Amino acid sequence: MRRRIAVVGGGPAGLTFARVLHRHDHPVTVLERDPSPGARPPGGTLDLHEQLGQLALDKAGVLAEFQALSRPEGQAMRILDTDGTVLRDWRPRPDDLANPEIDRGKLRDLLLGSLDVQWGRDVTEVEPGSRDGVLVHFADGRQETFDLVVGADGAWSRVRPAVTSATPYYTGVTMVETSLDEVDTRHPDLARLIGDGSVAVYGVNRALAAQRNSGGHVKVYAQFRAPLDWHTDLERHMGLNRRTGLDEGLDLADVEAVRSSLLALFDGWAAPVLNLLRHGTAFAHRPLYVLPVAHTWAHVPGVTLLGDAAHLMPPLGAGANLAMLEGAELAESVAAAPGDLAEVVRAFEEQMWARAGRWAKITTAGLERLVGPDPTEALALFDEVQPS
Ligand SMILES: Cc1cc2nc3c(=O)[nH]c(=O)nc-3n(C[C@H](O)[C@H](O)[C@H](O)COP(=O)(O)OP(=O)(O)OC[C@H]3O[C@@H](n4cnc5c(N)ncnc54)[C@H](O)[C@@H]3O)c2cc1C
Repeated sequence: MRRRIAVVGGGPAGLTFARVLHRHDHPVTVLERDPSPGARPPGGTLDLHEQLGQLALDKAGVLAEFQALSRPEGQAMRILDTDGTVLRDWRPRPDDLANPEIDRGKLRDLLLGSLDVQWGRDVTEVEPGSRDGVLVHFADGRQETFDLVVGADGAWSRVRPAVTSATPYYTGVTMVETSLDEVDTRHPDLARLIGDGSVAVYGVNRALAAQRNSGGHVKVYAQFRAPLDWHTDLERHMGLNRRTGLDEGLDLADVEAVRSSLLALFDGWAAPVLNLLRHGTAFAHRPLYVLPVAHTWAHVPGVTLLGDAAHLMPPLGAGANLAMLEGAELAESVAAAPGDLAEVVRAFEEQMWARAGRWAKITTAGLERLVGPDPTEALALFDEVQPS
C-alpha cells in the first residue's frame, strides 16, 4: 500500500524532495502557501556545491539541465578595501564546476518540471498522533490526514512546533537588500566593479556585497551589527541622526530615508562602492535569524523537518544546498522502504543533524568573522576557503 506523504513548502527542500519521489513513481502532495509560482519575486542567486546541491539535482535527474542554466563564471569573487583598493580578485577556471550560480527562479522552475503542486495551501498547524495519521490544518479551515508530513516550510515553519519548541533567534546582524537592473547598460562602472560574480567590501562591524544574477540584475546586500530595533532610534542605536538629519525613527518603507541612513552608516567608504547603494531601487529589511547550532528533537512518528525549518543558519552559501540534499536523501530512503517509515525517518534525521550541525558551526563562525570588529578576519576567511 502506498503511504500518504505530504511536504509543506515548495522551496528548494520541498521541491527536491517531491521531485525525487516523483522520479521513483511515489506519489507526494506538495502544499505551498504562495498562490502561484510567480506570486512573489524569487530572490537572488544560489551557488550549488558539487557535493551538496548538485548531488541532489543528480538524484532528481536534472543535473544536465542545471549545468545548461547555471553560471560557472558567477563563482568569481572580488574583495575590496573600504577605500576601493582591490585586495583579492579570484576568477574560476572555465572548467570549474564546483559551485556554479543559478537564479532562484530558474532553479524553482527546473525542480517544478511537471510536479503537481497545490498552490495557495497555507498550513497553520500539524497535529501528530491521531488514529488515522498526522492531521494538517489549513488557514481556510480545511484539514487533511497523511502518514508522513515533511516540514520544508522555511525559517518560520508551522510544522516545526509539532516536533520541537525551538524558534529562530536574532544573530545581531541585519541585512538590508537592494538591487540594480540592467547594470551593464545603466551602470557600466558598477558592472565592471562587480565583474562576473560578486564583490564584497568589509569594514568594522559592517559589510557591503553585490552579486550578479542573470540578465544584468544585481543584488546588493548591506550587512551590519545592530540591535533588532536599530531603525526605531538611529541616534541611540547607530549614532546616525546627526548626519542623516532624521529626527525620528527610520520608516523602513521610505526608500530615500533608508538610502540616506545606509549612506551615513557606510560613510567614508569609496564612492564607487557607495554607488551600489545610491543606485539601488527598493530596500528590503532582513534581520538574520538562526536556530540553535545543534538543533535536534525527539523523533515524532509521522512528522519531520528539512532545510531551514530544521536548521536555519547564517546565509553563507550552505542553506539551500543542505535543504536540497536532505530532500533528495529522504525521498530516496522513503521510496526504497516498504511499509512503516518510522525507522527510515529516524535514520534520516540522525544523518541530517550531524551534517547540518557541522555547517551551522562553520557558518556561525563565518558570520562572526565577516561582519565583525576586525575586517582582516573576513579576508583571512576568504583565503582559507577559496582555492587559489
Ligand atoms: C541573501 C541570501 C543568500 C543566500 N545564498 C545562498 C546560497 O548561495 N547558497 C545556499 O545554499 N543557500 C543560500 N541561502 C540560504 C537559502 O536561501 C535557504 O537556506 C533555502 O532557501 C532554504 O530552503 P527551504 O526550502 O528549506 O526553505 P525556503 O526557501 O524558505 O522555502 C520554504 C517554502 O515554504 C513555503 N511556506 C512557508 N510557510 C508555509 C506554510 N505555512 N504553508 C505552506 N507553505 C509554506 C514558502 O512559501 C516557501 O516556498 C541564502 C539566503 C539568503 C537570505
